[in-house]
Amino acid sequence: MGLWDYFKPASLDCPHCGAGLGEFQGRPTGSFHYVWQEHIVHPIDQRVDAEWKDPRIGTWVLDEDVAIQGECPRCAHTINAFARVRNQVWSHTDPDGGYDSAIAIESQVFLCGTCNGCFDRMHAARFHACPHCGSINRMPSTSHSSP
Ligand SMILES: [Zn+2]
Ligand SMILES: [Zn+2]
Repeated sequence: MGLWDYFKPASLDCPHCGAGLGEFQGRPTGSFHYVWQEHIVHPIDQRVDAEWKDPRIGTWVLDEDVAIQGECPRCAHTINAFARVRNQVWSHTDPDGGYDSAIAIESQVFLCGTCNGCFDRMHAARFHACPHCGSINRMPSTSHSSP
């Protein structure tokens, strides 16, 4: 059965091109076109006809992390991510594989944490796809300002 929910991250940019990502889809237990927004406990909407809307929407919560998938509106890459749930609240969002940290060599030049390939930073997003191996790097939090 093809039921899913919609997920709106507070702030997640495309690791390939840096564009802001709007909406993802995922299938938590009991999904029925509910709309979840990061940091908000209960669904903010349910995208079904009025007769199907569940009056208990204000009691539903997420119990565990949800794998979510979306598409970048600019570069059309498929983006896989995880809505991380802590104490029944969607607390933050990680791109799938975004765990290796890139190492800064110069202000805009980095080493990929996975393949050690050298790449230029193409955008300011927190996560950056390596152009060599494709893995998603977490970028160093201290940003160097360019002149
Ligand atoms: Zn993109
Ligand atoms: Zn790489």
